[in-house]
Amino acid sequence: MSRVVVAGGAGFLGSHLCDHLIARGDHVVCLDDLSTGSRDNVAHLLGHEHFSLTVTDVSEKVELEDGDTVDVVCNLASPASPPDYLARPFDTLAAGSEGTRRLVELARAHEARFLMASTSEVYGDPEVHPQVETYRGNVDPVGPRSVYDEAKRFSESLTMAMHRTHGVNVGIARIFNTYGPRLSPGDGRVVSNFIVQALRGEPLTVYGDGSQTRSFCYVDDEIAGLVALLDSSLTGPVNIGNPDERTMLELAQVVLEVSGSVSELTYGPLPADDPTRRCPDITLARAELGWSPTTDLRDGIARTLEYFASMVMPS
Ligand code: UDP
Repeated sequence: MSRVVVAGGAGFLGSHLCDHLIARGDHVVCLDDLSTGSRDNVAHLLGHEHFSLTVTDVSEKVELEDGDTVDVVCNLASPASPPDYLARPFDTLAAGSEGTRRLVELARAHEARFLMASTSEVYGDPEVHPQVETYRGNVDPVGPRSVYDEAKRFSESLTMAMHRTHGVNVGIARIFNTYGPRLSPGDGRVVSNFIVQALRGEPLTVYGDGSQTRSFCYVDDEIAGLVALLDSSLTGPVNIGNPDERTMLELAQVVLEVSGSVSELTYGPLPADDPTRRCPDITLARAELGWSPTTDLRDGIARTLEYFASMVMPS
């Protein structure tokens, strides 16, 4: 049994991580400013004797109750959907810099392990495919997405500096596109958009010509990978994602087939800086963590559809 701080614990990934840790008997201290996360995501955990939620912006304040010990600090606190981080550029930069600094300092003070949730976005629009951890990336440092990409690159740099200089026990995960229940219906990511549109019988909005690729990992698989890293002593960075690469047109087709929707496709402009392809090389995760994803895209989409069907009303 460990005491784990989960920053961003009321977000999509964070809340699933809290569930997993509580289920195995850990104590969870969830920190979240509820800006893109939601109390609803952890409502079922409130009142659990091993769970607490503190509403705080970790880029301004990280404070625990006096005397609390901490074994692990997980940093998942950041806007993560492109529309969210583009709408909050300064909050995103602050989360990656000041937020990460406060959290890694907390880990240092408690001699705790620090898990940094980084991202495939550190690879930018990749020229190496699939992306292996040693690839240094192709990020435009002044492009609109740089507020997220560079914030995460800075987080990785800061995490490694704390490891090298102060011996903090760290693990860096590079998370690729993840989907599943608790994605917010309005957050603008492709899986939630397509599913909500299919359920409402509205056209699916394909940006560009739909030939760009992503590799989608079901949330339970992603959490299993993060927990394997948390429980290990691997420093990383390590890619945690599903190498099942799809074009956005293929994804649209899967959503239509699984939902049985008769929605059509509509095409819109490709957002600035949108990476053309993305696929993790997970050799390192397989070898060092014994982890690989097991959920097939159709099964994962079916489970996600079920979740959205219970909350999405026809417009
Ligand atoms: N996308 C799309 N339709 C949408 C939302 C997104 O075609 O309604 C595309 C987007 O341009 C990108 C891919 O889907 O190429 C994944 O976008 P998302 O925002 O989910 O995540 P990203 O990997 O870009 O951070």
